[in-house]
Order: sequence, then C-alpha cells, then structure tokens
Amino acid sequence: MVWLLRQCTKCGRYTLRQDRCPVCGGAVKIPHPAKFSMDDRYRRYKLKMRRMARAEA
Ligand SMILES: [Zn+2]
Repeated sequence: MVWLLRQCTKCGRYTLRQDRCPVCGGAVKIPHPAKFSMDDRYRRYKLKMRRMARAEA
C-alpha cells in the first residue's frame, strides 16, 4: 500500500494522513504517484484515441 503514503510539502516527512502533516500541519501531496497516475494516463490516452477516432468517422 505504498501509494497511501503522503509527503508533507513543508517538512518533507512521510505520513499516512490524507489531509495534512501530523508534525507541522502542512499540506501533503502524493510523493510518487504509482498505479493511480498510470491508470489515469492510460485512461486519458484511451479517451484521446476515442476522440480522434470519432473525429475521423
Ligand atoms: Zn510537515
């Protein structure tokens, strides 16, 4: 479950909290988007392909 980790944008600490850093209260971000971004990119790619196919038809 690595992708559940968040990294604080302020102090750089890793946390499992989704909303903010438990240490400094800073905003958290996903450190290295793993599967989700891959799926998202693939989905976007498919959508683009579908749009192109529709434009040609
Ligand atoms: Zn922090």
